[in-house]
Parts: sequence; C-alpha cells; structure tokens
Amino acid sequence: MSNITLTYVNTTAVLVFDRADSSANVFDSATLAELGERLDELALQPEITGLLIRSAKPGIFIAGADLKELSTARGEKLSRLITTGQTLFNRIADLPYPTVAAIHGACVGGGYELALACDWRIASDASATKIGLPETQLGILPAWGGTTRLPDLLGLQDALPVILSGKLHSAADAKRKGLVDEIVPAEHLKAHALTYIEKGKRHLTHNPIIHNQAVAALTRVQAHKELLKKTRGHYPGPEAALEVAVASIGHTREKSQQAEREAIEKLAPLPQTAQLIRLFFLQERARKHRHTMADPRPVHRAAVIGAGVMGSGIAYWLSTRKIETILQDVSDAALAGGMENIRKLYDEAGKRHVFSRNQVARGLDRIHPTSDRVPLGNCDLVIEAAVEELSIKKRIFADLASRCADDTILATNTSALPIHELASGVPHPDRLVGLHFFNPVHRMQLVEVVRTDFTSDETLSTAVAFVRGIGKLPVVVRDTPGFLVNRILMPYLVEAAALFEQGGDPGEIDKAMLDFGMPMGPLRLLDEVGLDVAMHVARTLAAAFPNRMEIPRVVEKLLDAGHIGKKGGSGFYVYDDASPAVNAEAISFQTGTEDAPHDTREILASLMTSEAERCLEEGVAETAEDIDLAMVLGTGYPPFRGGPLENRS
Ligand code: NAD
Repeated sequence: MSNITLTYVNTTAVLVFDRADSSANVFDSATLAELGERLDELALQPEITGLLIRSAKPGIFIAGADLKELSTARGEKLSRLITTGQTLFNRIADLPYPTVAAIHGACVGGGYELALACDWRIASDASATKIGLPETQLGILPAWGGTTRLPDLLGLQDALPVILSGKLHSAADAKRKGLVDEIVPAEHLKAHALTYIEKGKRHLTHNPIIHNQAVAALTRVQAHKELLKKTRGHYPGPEAALEVAVASIGHTREKSQQAEREAIEKLAPLPQTAQLIRLFFLQERARKHRHTMADPRPVHRAAVIGAGVMGSGIAYWLSTRKIETILQDVSDAALAGGMENIRKLYDEAGKRHVFSRNQVARGLDRIHPTSDRVPLGNCDLVIEAAVEELSIKKRIFADLASRCADDTILATNTSALPIHELASGVPHPDRLVGLHFFNPVHRMQLVEVVRTDFTSDETLSTAVAFVRGIGKLPVVVRDTPGFLVNRILMPYLVEAAALFEQGGDPGEIDKAMLDFGMPMGPLRLLDEVGLDVAMHVARTLAAAFPNRMEIPRVVEKLLDAGHIGKKGGSGFYVYDDASPAVNAEAISFQTGTEDAPHDTREILASLMTSEAERCLEEGVAETAEDIDLAMVLGTGYPPFRGGPLENRS
C-alpha cells in the first residue's frame, strides 16, 4: 500500500502524501521507509530542478509522528525511529535544488519538521490550516530536526515560544511569526507554491550580533526563569527542549541533532511523558467515542436564556461557530451588559488576529438579543443559563416548553441543581439534558453533558455532537449532585477553607497546591469562582452528602462582611494591586492558631482522589479515564500526574 506518490510538473518533482485507508497522514516507520524509497528514486533523476511536497487529504498536511508507535518505542527502536526521521529530513534539506512545502490543513509536529527541512513554506489561509510543534506538551521535544532548524530560521528568541508553548498557530499567525513564508487561498496553493521553485535555494543570513552563543546564553537565563514560573519544575520536556535549542546556536547540525536524540531518549520513558500522551489519547477518545447508537440531529439555531456571565459567554462562543443565537434575558440592563461582554470578547479576539474585522461583524450579527418572550419554534437547542435557583429554572423550563417545538432540545447550564427536577412542567422530558460549560466559556474546553434517567439516546447524541461541533470536549456524566467536576473539587476547596479557619496561612495553603501542580491555589480559586457561587454549590453537595462535607463558618462570615471574592474586590485576598494581598479581615475570622499541616498537599490532593473514586464506584462518569480527563480540563488538575485516579497511592 502506498502512502506517498511521486509525480511531476515538468522538471519539478511533487511528493504527495496520501495515507491509504486513513483520513490523516502520519509518520510511522513504514511511511518513513517509503519516504526513503521516494528520495532514492529522486536521486536517480538528474534532470529534476525542484521539489514540491503536498498532501492530498482535504484537511491535513501531515499530523505528525504516529504517537502510538513513538510512545511505545524504547531503546534501540526509539533511537532508530529518531535517526531515520532526522536522516530523511536532512536528505531533503541537502537536495541541490529548491524545495517547497505547500501546506493545507494540520501541519503538526513531524509534519512541520518536514516543512522546516524545505527551503520555502507556503500555507493555505483556510481555517483547517494549523501549524506548530506540540511535542513539548506531550513531554518530549521536536527531535526530527525541529529544535535545531526553527532557531536557525527565526533566531532563538522567536523560536523558543513556538517550541516551548507547543501551541498550534492559524495560517495568519504562522505567517506573522515567520513559520511560513506566505499564505494564499487554498485553491491557489499548489500553483503559487510552484512559483517558489523559481526563487532558488534559500540561504539564511544570520545577524551575528543576535545569532551567537553569548546572546543565546543570556536568552536562556530569561527563558528558563519564565519556564519555571509556569512549570514549577514538573515538566522536563520543555526544559530539555530549551537546552537543546540554546545549544543549537553555534553548533553543527549533526551535534545539535545528536542532542535532540539524546534528549528524547531520556524523556520518552518518564512517567510524566506517559501521562501526557495518555491524556492526548483520552482527548481523542472524547472527540470520537460513540455513546449511543442514535444519530445526532444538527444544531443550526440556538437560544440562550440568561445573558449573565455564562449566558453571554456561551452566546459568544456559539456565534463564533456560526450558530444563529437568540440571547434572552428578563432584564434589559443585563442584556446590555451581556452584549457588552460579547463585544469585548470579539474585540480581544480581533486584536489577537483570531478573527478579521469582517468575521467579528458577522459573528455579532448572529446574536439576536431580546428581553421579549419571542417564539423559539425554529430553534434546535435552547441552553438555559439563568440564576442558580431551582424554582426559577422550573418556571423557565415550563415556559420554554410552551414556546419551543416539541422536539427542541432543552439544556440547562446549572452547576449543581438536579436536572430531573426540571422535568415536571416539560412535555417530552426525554429532550432534557445538562450542558455544563465552565467559566470562562471561551477558554475552557470541557463541557459536562449531563444525562438524566429519561434523557433519550437521540438527545444525548445530539448534545454530544453539538459540543464537539463547537470545538469543545464532552464528558458524559449522570444527573447526580454537583455532577462530576464540582463534586470532586468541592471537598478539596472546603477543606482548604477549613485549614485556613483553623489558623493556616493562606499563602502557604495555596503554595502547597501550586507545588502539587495546580494552576491556582484553592483559596485563590474560591475567590476567583466567587464565594457566593462556591457556597451555593457547596450547600447543594453538603445537603446531598451530609456526613462528608461540613462548610466552615469562615466562608459565611466572609460573605456577610461583603467579601464575595475577586469580582467584589476581596475574599480570602484583597485585589487592589497586581498581586493580591491577604485580607486582614479574613484573618480576623480565623478561630484557631494552627499552622497548615506539613502534609497539606497530600491531605488536599487525597480528597480529590477519594471523591473521584466514589464517583467511579457510583457510575457518575462512564470510565476512570473520563474522570481524569474532566478534572484536567475542568480544573487544571496537573496533567503530568494524569488525573486524580492516576494519583492513587
Ligand atoms: P449571572 O447572575 O451572571 O446571570 C444570570 C442571568 O440570568 C442574569 O442576567 C439574570 O437577569 C438572568 N435571568 C434571571 N431570571 C431569568 C429568566 N427568568 N429568564 C431569563 N433570564 C433570567 O449568573 P451566571 O454566573 O451566568 O450563571 C448562570 C448559570 O450558569 C447558573 O445556573 C450557574 O450555576 C451556572 N454556572 C455558572 C458558572 C460560573 O462560574 N459563573 C459556571 C458554570 C455554570
């Protein structure tokens, strides 16, 4: 079976990647061997004057190395895999005639390393085009020449953020960052890329003032400091990538690629790497797993009820995904505030070049704000995001049922309320489902899809497909108090507040969990969520599990004294300056003088693990993997630990 074919346009050779029986091109050993054979064929043809590399897949250039193979290769096998890739890409780089990569679709990891070995890189401006080196996010580094070639092309300073963040870039962003030379409409890609052959071979000229080892050493110091701030030393992948990239300056290609090889051989067997790669596969599963046999229905038009923090965030996100959205609120002022929030989100995205001015205008046009009880007969889905009050939500759902078609899917974004209780006034309650988005909606990838006992298979399928369609990751959970993420998180947050109440220093409590790898300490997180919102969820859970959770009085005292968290300016901390200071009044509410215990970190982490175990036993989620993934995506649980169920001692 052939994965790569060689065709010709006059004296230009064209290598076309088109993996048989697959929608994606990836590099496994067999494909690498085939690339070697095609290069051997080329070497026998002295009349060739240029090489174009492209893909025949509709949305993928090359998606990178075959992670299944790479993640299991060890020792000699891994070493051979890396050396083979490096040698082949070096052969392309050393061809005596100009080489061009015509990139349309995902050009990721090894795919971009191949493109980097070419003289020129031309990309289509399609939204499917995504370019980058995500290896460090998987605990490894670009080792097929990428960590050597990118600093050579861009200079160390500009190459490091691309390598160390592992982010994928849109075509426009890739052009701005110098990752590609030009972007053109997809229909002109091949023809335009061929014109680059006429430009001849590329000769990189380095500015000796910037491109030297002394400057590289200085850049390293700063970059290392910034990296440690983010990773707190838990992620050896980006650290190793930094060292190799820095050392590439002033060293031969051979020496630098040897360093790439040695680094990946050290990184591949680490437990952190295994966890990061496992999470990658769990995300793939969340994108594809079929939960029921029912076919999903398309969602073209939606309505969002409630234009507050969550409603406006959801409406914004739907409009960016080309879904016509009615945004309804009882209050004109709230509606105006919601639209203001949406405009701000579009403004920020526009500034970051995520959307053009035209796209921003069209996105805003897709949102139809109203404070009237407009008919919703032609909506495929309604998402309720009004206040967290069961009686209000019940009324809203009964009213929605009277305004929608019989089969409109009715979803609620409730954080913790029992969804089955909304069914009483709703004919056909099989269309009820929870769609629990996380705050801020535009940043958080996870959506809990909450299935009640009477949610139909078709409703569930549609909800899951809808979540995937808007670019989020669904985890299906049962309709139990707090669902999954809040249920596991809350005992941990409540215990942190209890340690504080007993006299613990808030900075120390938070630091313990930052050191564990959480993105934010628990007391800071409580402030961020809002003590009022957190209290609401905590009460729901305390009522459901009375012998497991007792909410410390300090939270109520803080609320009574007006410290509702960051949105009000103070909570456990005061938010006047850039860095929050401990709230003196909060300290005055402490009832004890006990320091936080030396094993605070273990105590708090084990609470998440034991609640996760209970959720697994009770079948709140379908699998242990779903629980781990949801906690990583929903709370930032340290990815290198793999999730609370992987952290069992
Ligand atoms: P919010 O207070 O910011 O907004 C609620 C909005 O609903 C207000 O604008 C209010 O005017 C409107 N509203 C009240 N009654 C209404 C009615 N009958 N019809 C239409 N609109 C009505 O609240 P929020 O933080 O956006 O939360 C909304 C929902 O999302 C809640 O159920 C909450 O538990 C859930 N949630 C919140 C978060 C969060 O972090 N804030 C996260 C996940 C889920």
